[in-house]
Amino acid sequence: MAYLKERMSKDKGNIKSAFVVAMVGVVLVGVFAIMSPNVWIGYVLGGMVAVVGFIGIVANENDYNKALNELKKLPKKIPICPNCEKELPQSKLESCPFCGKPLLPS
Ligand SMILES: [Zn+2]
Repeated sequence: MAYLKERMSKDKGNIKSAFVVAMVGVVLVGVFAIMSPNVWIGYVLGGMVAVVGFIGIVANENDYNKALNELKKLPKKIPICPNCEKELPQSKLESCPFCGKPLLPS
């Protein structure tokens, strides 16, 4: 399904953005550690940015995996009756439940 693939590429983009945010947070903590190691607010701010980034990565990865699983669960090909062209509820039916045409040669 197209919407799942769209969702997955969106998640991938979000993971990249979240990764950048997480890295900025880590760098901020590092910069504050060098510039003003005694000012705790710097660690808190940098740490918060990093945590937001990491949460974003995990959340989007979860959603990506969910979409991937849903995509895998989708039937590859919906069986269709060759006579009436209705979608068959099962792939292995002896006859079409709609028009009664025999489907499996026996
Ligand atoms: Zn049929």
